[in-house]
Amino acid sequence: GQCITHCPVGALRERDDTEKVWDAIADKDTITVAQIAPAVRTAWGEALGLSREEATVGKIADALHKLGVDYVFDTSFSADLTIMEEGNEFLERFTKGETKVRPMFTSCCPGWIRFIKSQFPHLVPQLSTAKSPQQMFGAVMKTYFADALQVSPNRIFTISVMPCVAKKGESNMELFYEEYSGHDTDVVLTTRELTRMIRSAHIPPFSLENREFDRLMKEYTGAGVIFGVTGGVMEAALRSAYYLVTGKNPDPDAFQDVRNDGKGVKSAEIRIGDAVVKAAVVSGLGNTRCLLQQIERGEVHYDFVEVMACPGGCVGGGGQVIHDGEELAYERGQNLYFLDKNAPLRFSHENPDVQKLYADFMGQPLSHKAHMLLHTDHQAWEMPRPEK
Ligand code: SF4
Repeated sequence: GQCITHCPVGALRERDDTEKVWDAIADKDTITVAQIAPAVRTAWGEALGLSREEATVGKIADALHKLGVDYVFDTSFSADLTIMEEGNEFLERFTKGETKVRPMFTSCCPGWIRFIKSQFPHLVPQLSTAKSPQQMFGAVMKTYFADALQVSPNRIFTISVMPCVAKKGESNMELFYEEYSGHDTDVVLTTRELTRMIRSAHIPPFSLENREFDRLMKEYTGAGVIFGVTGGVMEAALRSAYYLVTGKNPDPDAFQDVRNDGKGVKSAEIRIGDAVVKAAVVSGLGNTRCLLQQIERGEVHYDFVEVMACPGGCVGGGGQVIHDGEELAYERGQNLYFLDKNAPLRFSHENPDVQKLYADFMGQPLSHKAHMLLHTDHQAWEMPRPEK
């Protein structure tokens, strides 16, 4: 099962990892734990004949359980966790006034990480050290969640369902925890691989029901959901940074200036307390190159820059369902904004399960344990190309 992708980050052939997942499910000693990225919910139904209203994320959870996966979570949970780490990291860098190391760049897109490492290596120290939500969730599954189940991390097999081919390379990042060493994420399935598994198991899409996510990492916020669209990481981070600085929540829709409106680059000056944060959001690597050149020539100055390799963000990722000649990233992104608008919680710092994770296990954002499990040294790992 190899197929040509539209992946903009150079991966022309997609590896099929569904066999590894079937093997893990079949092994009775292995506990399979899956996460579903925000952007997957906007596209998976397209391949199965489900309308946007019918293709809820709860039905993906049901499908994964029916395939035999033991526990299923939403990557929006660990997107909230990423905001707690990256938002605090940004405020630390911002308030230290080290203008020469600005801007801080987001680090959750492996297509962008590969690009900066190869094209602008001198800027790598300006990346946030926060791991991506995929990697953070894998680390949490093999530590906090394994402890809660009272099993060794060696028995936990972590699966992530992603809109992205480059995430297969990112999953090679290492995890070290007490006696365990291995990978945060064992297998990455693209949206297309997920729909192939549902089909090959003969699960009728119309039989799927809305199933809740499992505990302990059940809750997620609208801020986590918008990670899947360009500008979403920035908006989620600004919402929580505002709270951290002022002690009050802003209007959750106060930072619409960074939202996707179909342009590849957006910028905004955001007042937070007495300070003004100069933020920029860019998607697509051509746009990114232009922006970095402008920054390097001193033509523009930013404090915090979000970069996504795929135009429109992960909703338009190379692992999504493909329709020839159709560009659905904008429309799928609007779907995530709709889900955020209607979410009961819209601030990452209000996610009760993230709060519990800190209280019971991680301590504080940027604690020693959080650094060990949730952050990385970008210069210490190579990202192999996922194809072959
Ligand atoms: Fe993957 Fe999203 Fe980055 Fe595209 S924008 S390479 S889908 S993480």
